[in-house]
Amino acid sequence: MALLAGLLAAQSTGTASQPSIDIALRARSLQPGELVVVGLALDRDATTVEVTAFERTSPAYPVGPGRWEALVGIDLEQAAGEYVLRASADGGARAGERPFAVVAKTFAERTLKVNPDFVNPPKAALARIQEESRFLQALYAAPAPRRLWEAPFRRPVPHRANSRFGVRSVFNGERRSPHAGTDFLSPAGTPIRAPNAGRVVAARDLYFSGNTVIIDHGLGLFSQLAHMSRIDVAEGDPVTAGQVVGLVGATGRVTGAHLHWGLRAGAARVDALSLLALLAKDPP
Ligand SMILES: [Zn+2]
Repeated sequence: MALLAGLLAAQSTGTASQPSIDIALRARSLQPGELVVVGLALDRDATTVEVTAFERTSPAYPVGPGRWEALVGIDLEQAAGEYVLRASADGGARAGERPFAVVAKTFAERTLKVNPDFVNPPKAALARIQEESRFLQALYAAPAPRRLWEAPFRRPVPHRANSRFGVRSVFNGERRSPHAGTDFLSPAGTPIRAPNAGRVVAARDLYFSGNTVIIDHGLGLFSQLAHMSRIDVAEGDPVTAGQVVGLVGATGRVTGAHLHWGLRAGAARVDALSLLALLAKDPP
């Protein structure tokens, strides 16, 4: 509770003569893999407001007179330590900053046996994997410049999630990158609903994530929905919140049917459950 009280206390860094921006942070915790809703209070309104943390800048969006918000992700591999979040309005005409600490988190490790081709892909697959990696980097680097979503967010499937976000996997005895998604334990064939509105920027079969839909929600927020048995949307389509985008399946690097929801805020990989806890009507 002490931590939460600290989080909720707004802190102004301006002096009496210098107008500034008050910054408040809302999060489940300030730990790797968590989404943070940054609340910004300005003494008078602005045309543009942005926040910078972890050397990444995200545009803020207005939520009321003199009130703005921004989503900042703490990447699941972010080092614990002291950081500063800076806010700037109208190109620096007004500014504010707020120090905060990222608290260490220990993720579990799991040992899995999967098809060896997915651990050390065959030479024939390397060109495909590289091309898909470039495709994904390019789309994540060019988010829609406007916010396409509106609160509340919703669960893509009604089933519960396991706790495997951030887990370090050892596949067939070899260590691999951490699990950057939230797995929902849904049976094959379950309709998958867009967690919010956006634009479909990927709707294709990818080597590791199988049949995959990526929704650009704008301002750097992306939902990746993976391992589908069927895709029901096409690249370029706009989607509305709750629209069915495909069905749960077991395509790609999986051991069974489930929905993998990978969420990115800026370049940070965060637990979708932290988004739902902050911005859904019925948090998990
Ligand atoms: Zn997964």
